[in-house]
Amino acid sequence: MTGNKWGAIEINPVPVNDPKILVFNTDLCESLGLELTALRDPHVLSGNRLPLGWKSWALAYGGHQFGHFNILGDGRAHLIHEYRDSSGKIWDFQLKGSGQTPFSRRGDGRSALAPMLREYLISEAMFALGVPTTRSLSVVSTGETVYREGPQPGGILFRVASSHIRVGTFQYVAHKFGTEAVKELMATAIQRHYPELDFKDALSFFRAVMSRQAKLIAQWMNLGFIHGVMNTDNMAISGETIDYGPCAFMDEYDPDTVFSSIDSQGRYRYGAQPSIAQWNLARLAECLVPLFHESTEQGIAIAQEELSKFSDLFSGCYLTGLRRKLGLRQSQPKDTELFQSLFESMYHHKLDFTWTFRQLGQPNFQKEPLFQHESFQKFIDHWSLRLQDEGTQLELAQVEMQPVNPALIPRNYFVEEALEKAVQGDLSHFEELHQALKSPYEETNDNFKFRQLKPDFSKNYVTFCGT
Ligand code: AMP
Ligand code: MG
Repeated sequence: MTGNKWGAIEINPVPVNDPKILVFNTDLCESLGLELTALRDPHVLSGNRLPLGWKSWALAYGGHQFGHFNILGDGRAHLIHEYRDSSGKIWDFQLKGSGQTPFSRRGDGRSALAPMLREYLISEAMFALGVPTTRSLSVVSTGETVYREGPQPGGILFRVASSHIRVGTFQYVAHKFGTEAVKELMATAIQRHYPELDFKDALSFFRAVMSRQAKLIAQWMNLGFIHGVMNTDNMAISGETIDYGPCAFMDEYDPDTVFSSIDSQGRYRYGAQPSIAQWNLARLAECLVPLFHESTEQGIAIAQEELSKFSDLFSGCYLTGLRRKLGLRQSQPKDTELFQSLFESMYHHKLDFTWTFRQLGQPNFQKEPLFQHESFQKFIDHWSLRLQDEGTQLELAQVEMQPVNPALIPRNYFVEEALEKAVQGDLSHFEELHQALKSPYEETNDNFKFRQLKPDFSKNYVTFCGT
């Protein structure tokens, strides 16, 4: 499949001194039908030992990083198994932080523990929120020190993905091997992710990828999620969220929100995510141009025409999501104005994104002091009229809003607190938060603590790639 082709190099993980399991995802293990006792072994989860029949590869890929093309590849990751579950679906098992490979360039092939715990926590939170994502099976500490800003304990993540075929994989294959190889890669990607399509039909393939990306980015936007490093190598053909580095959830609504320390221009800010997705898809389309048409000119024209549909595709998904967030069932021409007025009030009054939507779904929301401003009252009047127009009672709309607007997201403050304590050896906060994030749409006594807002914390919050 993807393991032994297109520039991949067979290479084993580099063993670590003293691997210890810090977190293990029993639910995921069971849902994949995996043998728990065989897998729950620190030497397997660190890559010190490969189970019989497993083979380890570092995959090659390229990618536009902040707009510039580079040859990349798994520099600190190993694809150690392609697992076929009982339904026949194939899953990539990948270790991250598992040692140097020929793609490491100047990197040490390792990862500090905190970023691996962070990926585990946020990817699993995204799964519970209903967003397509890679999953996390475990994190082990390595017993070794890595040097970043200073010495830090090392960690290895065991990631499960429906594949690691990225936009950057297409770019690498087009760049290095040419059109026939792109055709083969596309056939593999179709077989794996879009089996309903003809494996030679590049246009249908491109449309399908575009459609999944439109849905995915709309879900991110509807939850206030900021990926933070949407390079083309961090966009999966499957439509799963992949590569959790400097990602974070927005607190106060502001479309210009950026957390990533390296994103000084705000290229990957919250409000730019849809247009960046389109930009990345244009890079994919470039690889497919020769498959769209034998004439380059006509191939480009086809690519451009398809790409021009992205914005409507995205808006369709995004607006549907917003309507559901407000308990609306029908689509009406003035909906955009309604949403705009809500966002303007939220921006103006520095309201928390997650809290605002959750609060609007509560019976006594009108008494909330933060909603007393005139601009908010205007929105509420408009929304009430809109519901009346559909013949929906407010109370009913509010019931429907509950399973759409999370009560709980991985708030920056709690994530950082959990990671800080975990690195010091106390995993209790991490486990408590992880447990709470499994039911993000429910308000319980247990998750009360994690529903508290920490607006000041996020004002100066900076996230890191963890590379
Ligand atoms: P990322 O920012 O995690 O998407 O990584 C971008 C590229 O840098 C990928 O090719 C990674 O494999 C590589 N990389 C990141 N961190 C390291 C590291 N510590 N050692 C070697 N390669 C790395
Ligand atoms: Mg990456």
